[in-house]
Amino acid sequence: MRLVVVGAAGRMGCALIRALLLTPGATLAAAIEREGSPALGSDAGALVGLPETGIRVTSDALTAFSQAEGVLDFTSPSATVEFAALAAQARIVHVIGTTGFVDDDLKKLDAAARHAVLIRSGNMSLGVNLLAALVRKAAAALPDFDIEVLEMHHRDKVDAPSGTALLLGDAAASGREVSLNDAAVKSREGHTGARKPGTIGFATLRGGSVVGEHSVILAGPGERLELSHKAEDRGIFAAGAIRAALWGKGRSPGHYSMADVLGIAD
Ligand code: NAP
Repeated sequence: MRLVVVGAAGRMGCALIRALLLTPGATLAAAIEREGSPALGSDAGALVGLPETGIRVTSDALTAFSQAEGVLDFTSPSATVEFAALAAQARIVHVIGTTGFVDDDLKKLDAAARHAVLIRSGNMSLGVNLLAALVRKAAAALPDFDIEVLEMHHRDKVDAPSGTALLLGDAAASGREVSLNDAAVKSREGHTGARKPGTIGFATLRGGSVVGEHSVILAGPGERLELSHKAEDRGIFAAGAIRAALWGKGRSPGHYSMADVLGIAD
């Protein structure tokens, strides 16, 4: 499967190029960066410390998409919304790992998914998607326990709570049959008063080079259950994204999740 990597010079872009050059059944078709990026013109292999591939980083996404079968996209919400329109035009698979979308962005992605196979997840790893299934079960089985989601990421992460923390919060909310929008408490400061029953709290830590750590804590009277995942290498997200693209090849247009790819959707 011929795949384009957008945001090629980013942390995840480089992990995706590295994984693609080593994965049988998938090939790097093009590497895209924004106009003005210092990476433009570099060889994609050399960019990630591997032998030269002959594929130069360009900013011409339209041409690249028209000659490929899929795109792997871990960039920014505004860039992803633009790429989704191009992927829909080219009717190819669009795997989206980008996080931090607002409702208006999601509506645009839904519109693009009428023409493209769009697969989006705040976390592409096998472990986190299985964790989400466990969190859903635990939240349903322990209705009186307080749920808190704690996460830590590297110092350069720009959105909070992380897409994964929201994915886990959503799993907890669905286990309780409530909407995360209604139940979430995303920050606390000052005289907050006692914890409101049924809420789902979030706490965010940032620092150093942490790839991604998440714990869902279910706290009851006299006991506490903690379900955790620690990402040690961005390669797990890249491998998940490639697996998603291969799964999406030949499917009907639509907005799919990683749970669909892994066959663990409800
Ligand atoms: P990053 O290092 O900042 O990489 C983003 C890259 O996208 C940068 O090279 C950026 O270029 C480029 N970019 C932005 N707009 C562009 C455009 N219009 N055209 C082409 N390239 C563009 O960030 P990261 O750590 O790789 O993370 C990227 C996203 O993936 C974040 O939203 C993060 O939360 C998410 N993420 C998701 C998962 C998952 O499993 N779902 C895992 C890890 C990360 P500039 O530097 O020039 O802006």
